[in-house]
Amino acid sequence: MAANILIVEDEEKLARFIELELMHEGYGTDKAHDGRTGLEKALSGKYDLCLLDIMLPELNGLEVLRRLRKTSNLPVIMLTARDSVIDKVSGLDMGAQDYITKPFAIEELLARIRAALRNTAADSVKTEILTCGKLELDRGRHTVKYDGTEIKLTGREFLLLETLMINKTIVLTRDILMEKVWGFDYVGETNVVDVYIRFLRSKIDDVFGVKLIHTVRSVGYVIKDEE
Ligand code: CA
Repeated sequence: MAANILIVEDEEKLARFIELELMHEGYGTDKAHDGRTGLEKALSGKYDLCLLDIMLPELNGLEVLRRLRKTSNLPVIMLTARDSVIDKVSGLDMGAQDYITKPFAIEELLARIRAALRNTAADSVKTEILTCGKLELDRGRHTVKYDGTEIKLTGREFLLLETLMINKTIVLTRDILMEKVWGFDYVGETNVVDVYIRFLRSKIDDVFGVKLIHTVRSVGYVIKDEE
């Protein structure tokens, strides 16, 4: 069945243009032109994906996302006109799957929509459990535990940790991590990898007093059991 996509965008011409393109691709669509209506619709459970503008009247996109994430895992792609890495990082850290900077080519948006929908579908069939020492990542349930204690991670943090754990003991360069976690066409700051490694360390290494995530100077990062 075709996916249902909610477009939350106050520029009505742009929203209409995206809607027509999505309908042309066979998706079901709906629109909201302000954050409050967008949040209400996003919470209705009728959609498979939400395209969410950041600069919106009533509630901005980041606030919509923050409230949405209290109860919903609806995949979200942020639409941002700003070139600020802060917005992108906060959006991703708050649980957006991806973002795209305006103006964008419609083909790129469509590719990201397909990727977001595919990842969501793939996540629900994975069952493998990855471990590193007492750290356990369940790819099917999307949970991470250390010695039985659950660790709350955002979508992007989870993906980064998953990538490190799949490649346990193998040093991954920032470029490889960027490509695997943020995608080939990522055009933000390259230090986003370092920022997210810090987030992971603060939630895992620092909390449990262990050293699992190692920096390999001028190369990248590796996760490995304590020696
Ligand atoms: Ca806007």
